[in-house]
Amino acid sequence: MDEGLKLETSENPGSPCAIIRPGGSSKGRSEDNPYANALTQFDKAVSHLNLKRGVVDMLRCPKRELSVNFPVMMDNGDIRIFRGYRVHHSVVKGPTKGGIRYSPNVTLDEVRALAMWMSWKCALMNLPYGGAKGGVIVNPKLLSSRELERLTRRYSTEISVLMGPESDIPAPDVGTNPQVMAWIMDTYSMHRGFSIPAVVTGKPVEIGGSLGRTEATGRGVGFCILEALKLRGIGPKNATVAIQGFGNVGSVAARMVQELGMKLVAVSCSKGGLYSGDGIDLSSVTRHLERGGCVTNFAGTDSISNEELLTLECDVLIAAAVENQITSQNADKIKAKIVAEGANGPTTPEADEILSEKDVFIIPDILCNAGGVTVSYLEWVQDLQAFFWPVEEINRKLQYLMAKAFENVIAAAKQFRVSNREAAQILAIQRISDATLIRGIYP
Ligand code: GLU
Repeated sequence: MDEGLKLETSENPGSPCAIIRPGGSSKGRSEDNPYANALTQFDKAVSHLNLKRGVVDMLRCPKRELSVNFPVMMDNGDIRIFRGYRVHHSVVKGPTKGGIRYSPNVTLDEVRALAMWMSWKCALMNLPYGGAKGGVIVNPKLLSSRELERLTRRYSTEISVLMGPESDIPAPDVGTNPQVMAWIMDTYSMHRGFSIPAVVTGKPVEIGGSLGRTEATGRGVGFCILEALKLRGIGPKNATVAIQGFGNVGSVAARMVQELGMKLVAVSCSKGGLYSGDGIDLSSVTRHLERGGCVTNFAGTDSISNEELLTLECDVLIAAAVENQITSQNADKIKAKIVAEGANGPTTPEADEILSEKDVFIIPDILCNAGGVTVSYLEWVQDLQAFFWPVEEINRKLQYLMAKAFENVIAAAKQFRVSNREAAQILAIQRISDATLIRGIYP
């Protein structure tokens, strides 16, 4: 169901994006629409900048949007039609970059929001990219591997008018993985007649992927938490951590925080979670997961719901599931001192205000989970130069870029007297605006 936000073109036919409204006044506004939330954040950040009105209007809406309906032959011979999207938010700073999501909950507005956040993330990290995102409305767990491959190859073909190593470079996101990226790379390469590894990142290392890419997002989350603990005067040894979401980001972040000496007290997946005040034995939870379970019902721990996990007594809460988890309904019950946004958009604007009154230190998504796209960039550079770096070199470059961005966000928060999220978005939006004006408006 893609109702979308209102594009009231009759009011201002020349500039439809100027009048996309993020769903009314902040009181009584629905928090469910990620694009409305992204626009609310954007308007707040822009209010601190002195930008040209037209540039603001330009950045409020995506540059281009592709919707595709396409058939897939299922194993039983049935033909099913799937819907997918690829949205480019901004193309000013370079080719567009962003993941592809497979989920039954994908909507066009979700993809628009995620594409916009990719623009801010890449600009904040100083990566030479614009933002994009793709999605297919599908539950990948309900497809066989062959069906998933056929769906991926067909969707890749449908969006290949946009995709390319110099134009738009996808990567993994919720519900996709390195194998899916391999199929995208192979499909694109088959159409061209030769291998083009740089068309996609997050690929297996065997076909031009980068060492350290799988761990990069979780590693970046761990790095940001260490810096935030320092700022809050909390020693990392035995700082307690709860993690919502045990996908690629949550599971690697869990390992990272344990390696850094912190105590993991709770983890969850979509079906629920577990808690242990004495600390969770990650290796046995991981073994349990590899046997195909979720993290619920695990010996020696208490079962908790996702809602309970968010409001646990702990030093650090890592929100590594999906968007809209911390809302006006539960923000006042959050007891963590630091919220690390491993997911994109886990906190609504209403929740942001409540957390800021409680003086919770938020590490905003476009900084916290930027390790993934940063190593994607390093992967792309390695593919283009056909020369690959050892993992130590990758991790050193990642650490350098994350440290710079973290420092810049904290400095901007001080300078503008704003939250970390506004500071991060202010920096990103200013950079994209500058690039737009330096390039000039064509023709
Ligand atoms: N999907 C990830 C993100 O949201 C990675 C994107 C990329 O590597 O291009 O940042």
